[in-house]
Amino acid sequence: MTHRTRPPSRICPACDGFASAAITLGGRDHRGHLRTITAHCPACHGTGTARTTRAREGARA
Ligand SMILES: [Zn+2]
Repeated sequence: MTHRTRPPSRICPACDGFASAAITLGGRDHRGHLRTITAHCPACHGTGTARTTRAREGARA
């Protein structure tokens, strides 16, 4: 029972993993749908993971 609760990749510290959010603009369009825009975290560009350098990948000497 050695569960690792850590996520496999690093979570973006700026958005805490919630990289995109739908923001209502108020009002509805002619079909009755809520008008929303999707905002992406500028730090991770909507991926939710922190960008890591490739130093580890190319660490083979
Ligand atoms: Zn982010």
